[in-house]
Amino acid sequence: MTKRALITGITGQDGAYLAAFLLEMGYEVHGMVRRSSTESSERIEHLTDRIHLHQSDLLDQSSIVGLLKDVRPQEVYNLAAQSFVPTSWLQPLLTSEVTALGVTRILEAIRLVDPAIRFFQASSSEMFGRVREEPQNENTPFWPRSPYAVAKAYGHFITVNYRESYGLFACSGIMFNHESPLRGKEFVSRKVTDAVARIKLGAADRVRLGTLDVERDWGFAGDFVRAMWLMLQQKEPDDFVVATGQKHSVRELVALAFARVGLESARYVEIDKALYRPAEVNRLCGDFSKARRVLGWEPTVGFEDLIAMMVDADLERVKRELAGGC
Ligand code: NAP
Repeated sequence: MTKRALITGITGQDGAYLAAFLLEMGYEVHGMVRRSSTESSERIEHLTDRIHLHQSDLLDQSSIVGLLKDVRPQEVYNLAAQSFVPTSWLQPLLTSEVTALGVTRILEAIRLVDPAIRFFQASSSEMFGRVREEPQNENTPFWPRSPYAVAKAYGHFITVNYRESYGLFACSGIMFNHESPLRGKEFVSRKVTDAVARIKLGAADRVRLGTLDVERDWGFAGDFVRAMWLMLQQKEPDDFVVATGQKHSVRELVALAFARVGLESARYVEIDKALYRPAEVNRLCGDFSKARRVLGWEPTVGFEDLIAMMVDADLERVKRELAGGC
């Protein structure tokens, strides 16, 4: 029997990778898209004739209930969120409504429509914030440092709570940073690789960044969506850290990206203190040994290869743009 999956946030980076992965696994793939005056399906354009898109919104309970009744999925992947940390200080209430309460809305809809649905929640390493230990694992206490991280901590605990209260098959993936050529351009990795391509091709002369000293554990989005799927194929629902176990600074990321095109980063980077976070998360590094042991999951793309992949893709795209193509 063909399995049906519903992805919220299908127009985002992870949604695009997960949709392609599930299609390859033989799934019928459905996606939630919210109404917008312009199309935001650029990342899934190549898949649109093979997937089913439905209008709904994490802010709207009855639209979610209706969606589950229409689609009748066996698996729901909740990837939708207001996902950009700096925006969460500018729009803390919207962030809470979407990124925190949105999770309860889906869980409630699952409980009412079909409690047998398996549920994946996209949680974040930002929940560890001011880290209590290193590396961070599933038992490390949270100390969230932004409205985004606080909202994600709520989403994590409500997922655990619905599993414990109602016996739902609900899993939380505590995901460390993961990137790709499809990453949003406001996130630091992609901001840098896009700027490197523009500078190399003469379309820009500098990039403005916040602090270069923070350290993150960066993996490849294509690897991370496989971990999401594996979590929903287990006998029992559980929570897993998904990470690479390697940390690097933004400074290293910048140097690598410029070196990829034969440029020296120091000449092109301008530090802008206005881009510093009100409360910073200085370093994050994940211990994914539980995911390795239970799910058999391993990352396949290392940091250098990831940055090279992103710079190369941005070079190709900017070249096309400058040549007047799309
Ligand atoms: P992304 O590219 O920013 O995608 C976010 C998605 O959420 C988009 O499809 C967006 O739709 C959708 N969305 C936002 N508000 C919505 C609403 N009210 N109703 C329905 N959909 C809504 O994020 P991503 O990088 O793919 O990340 C996927 C998930 O993993 C997010 O929950 C993120 O917080 C979490 N996460 C990501 C990372 C990472 O490093 N990438 C790490 C840890 C956790 P539009 O296209 O209409 O804007």
